[in-house]
Formats: sequence, C-alpha cells, structure tokens
Amino acid sequence: MTRNLPLHKKAKALKPGSRRPAKELCSECGLCDTYFIHYVKEACAFINQQIDKLEAQTHTRCRNLDNPDELYFGVYQEMMAARKTEPIPGAQWTGIVSTIAMEMLNKGMVEGVVCVQNSKEDRFQPVPVIARHPEEVLAARVNKPTLSPNLSVLEQVEKSEIKNLLVIGVGCQIQALRAVEKRLGLEKLYVLGTPCVDNVTRSGLQKFLETTSKSPDTVVHYEFMQDFRIHFRHEDGSVETVPFFGLKTNQLKDVFAPSCMSCFDYVNSLADLVVGYMGAPFGWQWILVRNERGKQMLELVKNQLQTQPVTSKGDRKTAVQQSIPAYDRGVTLPMWAAKLMGAVIEKIGPKGLEYARFSIDSHFTRNYLYLKRNYPQKLQTHVPEFAKRIVEQYKLPES
Ligand SMILES: Cc1cc2nc3c(=O)[nH]c(=O)nc-3n(C[C@H](O)[C@H](O)[C@H](O)COP(=O)(O)OP(=O)(O)OC[C@H]3O[C@@H](n4cnc5c(N)ncnc54)[C@H](O)[C@@H]3O)c2cc1C
Repeated sequence: MTRNLPLHKKAKALKPGSRRPAKELCSECGLCDTYFIHYVKEACAFINQQIDKLEAQTHTRCRNLDNPDELYFGVYQEMMAARKTEPIPGAQWTGIVSTIAMEMLNKGMVEGVVCVQNSKEDRFQPVPVIARHPEEVLAARVNKPTLSPNLSVLEQVEKSEIKNLLVIGVGCQIQALRAVEKRLGLEKLYVLGTPCVDNVTRSGLQKFLETTSKSPDTVVHYEFMQDFRIHFRHEDGSVETVPFFGLKTNQLKDVFAPSCMSCFDYVNSLADLVVGYMGAPFGWQWILVRNERGKQMLELVKNQLQTQPVTSKGDRKTAVQQSIPAYDRGVTLPMWAAKLMGAVIEKIGPKGLEYARFSIDSHFTRNYLYLKRNYPQKLQTHVPEFAKRIVEQYKLPES
C-alpha cells in the first residue's frame, strides 16, 4: 500500500524546537511541521529564492522591471485605497481581510480558510487554524506580530475533504505555499496576502514592547503608521504614540528575526490579492489586485467598502539615504528631538505610494547590508533582481 503513496507522505515532520533546514534564517512558516518538509529545499523562501518563477506560475507573468510601480509593488491589475464603511471592531485596520474571508465561506467559494488565532493565555501567541465558519475567521482578526507557523495546518488540509481553500498569510508563508500548491490535492486555492516586515519571535516582541511602550502588558494592537509614529492601542482603548525616530535602535538592533532582516518580499508578490495600509492615506487600507482570482475576491465585498484612487506625494530619497548610516550606527534621538523630527517629516515627508516606497527602500537597503555582512555567500541568489535595482539607487557603506 505505502509503495503508491506520494513521496512527501513518507516524510516526517520536524519536532517542535528542533533545528530547521534554513537554520537561523528560518521564519517558522510551518512547512517543516508537516510532511511537506519533503519539498523544503525547493520551497523554503530562505533556501531557494524563486519569486520570478513563482510570479510567472501564479500571475502568468513576472513583474515588469521597467515599470516603476511594478518594480516596487509587483504584478498587479489594479491598486486602490479602501476602508470598510462599517469597520470590524478589534480588527487590525478596518477588517477588510476578515470580511473577504467570511464572505468567501458564506458564499460557498471555499470550504476552509487558513488563518491565525491566538492562544487563550496570550493574545500575541499565534495559533494557526483551518476556519470552517465565519466566527472562526472573526476570532483570527488583528495581527499576531510574531513569526507564525501558518503552514503547519497544510497536512490537515490534504487529509480533509476541502477542495477549495483560502489561505491568509505573509510573504514567506505564501512563497512556500506556492511552491507546494500542486501537491495539496485542491481544486482551487485562493491567496489573500498582507505585506509584512520586521517580524519577531514572541520573546523578541516582548523586548520590543518593553523598550518602546510605557505599558507593555496592556498593548492589544500596534502598527507602524504612515504618520511616522508607532501607535499602540491599550486594553482601555487609549492610544500611545511613539515617533519612529525615538525608537531605541541601539537596543532593538537584534530584535527582528534574521529571516525578516533577509526578506525582500515585503509586498507579498505571490498573493492573488494584497491588503495592507502603507500606500494609502492615513486611516485607509491599501489594496493590490494581482490577478483574476484576486479580483473575484475583492468583488465580494466591494459593496461594503469606500474606495478612492491611490496618490503619491513628496520625495523619499534624501530621507532614505540619511537613514542608512543613522540606523547602522544605532543612533537614538532624545524624545523631544524625535518628536520634532516626526512632526516635520509628517508635514513635508513622503505620502501615499511615496511613503510605501520610502518604507520599501529603507528596509531593502538595511536587509541588503545585513545579508552582505552575515551571509555574503547568499547575496547573489537570495536578493531578487527587483530588489537589487531598488538598492542600487543608494550609496551603502563599503563594509
Ligand atoms: C507581522 C505583520 C507586519 C505587517 N507589516 C505591514 C507593513 O509594514 N505595511 C503594510 O502595509 N501592511 C503591513 N501588515 C498588514 C497590516 O498590518 C494589516 O494586517 C492588513 O492591512 C489587514 O488589516 P485588516 O484590518 O483587514 O485585517 P484583519 O481583518 O484584522 O485580519 C488580519 C489577518 O491577518 C492574519 N494574521 C495575523 N497575524 C499574522 C501573522 N503573524 N502571519 C500571518 N498572518 C497573520 C490573521 O489570520 C487575520 O486573518 C503587516 C501584517 C503583519 C501580520
């Protein structure tokens, strides 16, 4: 009997806590917690960077590197700013992601949704699930700002009767998913992605909260906002803001996971539909429809959304260039100076798509340097061509 099994079904998932094939670059996407570990050498985003091949497989073409918007944001048909007319209380932004997933279940487009709830004891401890009912999707709303093994439920998917599945996830999870998608026995896979950057382990998150917030234990939600401040929402509903420039960079340099310091898929290139915020005006979400499947997903909720065209204002380049040595040296400004700088940059700084480019440039230059210093042997193959072109616009320290 076992002789006819697909090869992956004979593979053994790794035990929790054991060393992963990507070693310290592992982003804990969950693939190795399943028998799909059989494909890890090809599928892992940190062992085998293959964004252009997977873009062609998913969207029928790679991004056009000569188109300045595609260079930054990947293959897309349509881009817009949107918000729910009736936001979902407790969602990360207005809850567009949860709403799309719930509608897909309600309309019978899918029988299951891979998403991530939290443990009973800890609101930030991720617990990936296959939601079968809208309430289970709703229970997964809001970011768990930690590495999350979303793909750990893939073995259950293949063993279930699910034929149409929606997966919600961040770039590294979706790269691995796309690489094994044909092995899952599905008729249709829909992928709803969010951008992602600077993720942390659960203990790293604790350090970040303790160094940055005045009340780390009561934080229920936080976001690096387009106004150049981190907004922490606390249990009592109050909002605490801390300017980016006031971050204790010297203490936080090691807090981000090495995988995230080596990632160039900020905008989730392989999702059908991406819902973030950074290309939209403050308070709005940013939507990228990458292909026909993404369009179908968005259509389901359009009557619940206000939309407006994306805009772009300002020039990010000087700010990015200046931030490279400042970050490198771990410069931390006194709070009064950080607040002043935040207020000035909010007035005259990049907005809309230019803010998104500012964030991409700052992270890609930082990550390129990190890779060059720590994994020089990976530099050529791990950095996608689009990221090399973005980084080439800046002068980086020699060593
Ligand atoms: C770690 C992280 C960093 C992000 N950074 C950026 C950024 O820099 N720029 C930007 O534009 N957008 C970023 N986003 C996306 C943004 O914060 C919102 O998640 C997105 O706009 C959706 O908001 P919403 O209200 O529609 O989501 P909700 O309706 O609240 O749903 C959130 C969904 O996210 C999923 N989720 C939560 N945590 C994780 C996780 N750790 N891994 C995978 N899936 C998860 C849940 O399953 C849930 O379905 C980030 C998201 C995450 C998880």
